[in-house]
Amino acid sequence: MKIRIDHGTCIGSGQCTLTAPAVFTQDDDGFAALVPDGARTATPRQVTQAALSCPVQAIALGNDPPDA
Ligand code: SF4
Repeated sequence: MKIRIDHGTCIGSGQCTLTAPAVFTQDDDGFAALVPDGARTATPRQVTQAALSCPVQAIALGNDPPDA
């Protein structure tokens, strides 16, 4: 599963990092970033829950998610 974060939409709420800390982290400015290789180790359920937790729908999932 590929994961894309729309950095123009992310508001840095941190919900994704709380829900799936193996996949999502926050950069120095507090915005979401992907943990290297995190998507390979997390379960689809964890990633999906993190995406659903995002209050601004900044996380896109799928085999070919839209570029963000
Ligand atoms: S949950 Fe959404 S808005 Fe919050 S840090 Fe993650 S991507 Fe950004």
